Amino acid sequence: MIKIAPNKPCPCYSGKKYKKCCRPLHQGQKIDDPVRLMRSRYSAYVLYNMDYIVNTMHPESKHLTDTPEWRAGITLFAETTDFNGLEILDSELSLDDINTGWVTFHAILANGDDDTSYVERSLFKKEDGQWLYLHADPLEDT
Ligand SMILES: [Zn+2]
Repeated sequence: MIKIAPNKPCPCYSGKKYKKCCRPLHQGQKIDDPVRLMRSRYSAYVLYNMDYIVNTMHPESKHLTDTPEWRAGITLFAETTDFNGLEILDSELSLDDINTGWVTFHAILANGDDDTSYVERSLFKKEDGQWLYLHADPLEDT
């Protein structure tokens, strides 16, 4: 895990200081909004905070991912990736279920000279007042 000074810009590219952005979440504050969760997971990758990545998985997905192999995979991903930016493109809550929400984002990434940026629509669910990441949803064709 990388340590970052609280007054440094947040690694999620919000433009805020880390202490005013993702740090409280990384320290265990409840996450009241799927966009904030999304941002804090991005910055957790930047900081190699793999415990946070695992702990913010919804129980439905966590059992699939909290294995040594999976951790090794995301750790390698974090170590070999340059995290160059994050744009939140869209976010919405389900009309049927206020405990379900989506965030569509553009992660600006590079692996050496290769642009590995991607757009993902992530599904989030709330459990006991805490938003958690479920999985990526297929992007709708527009
Ligand atoms: Zn942040």
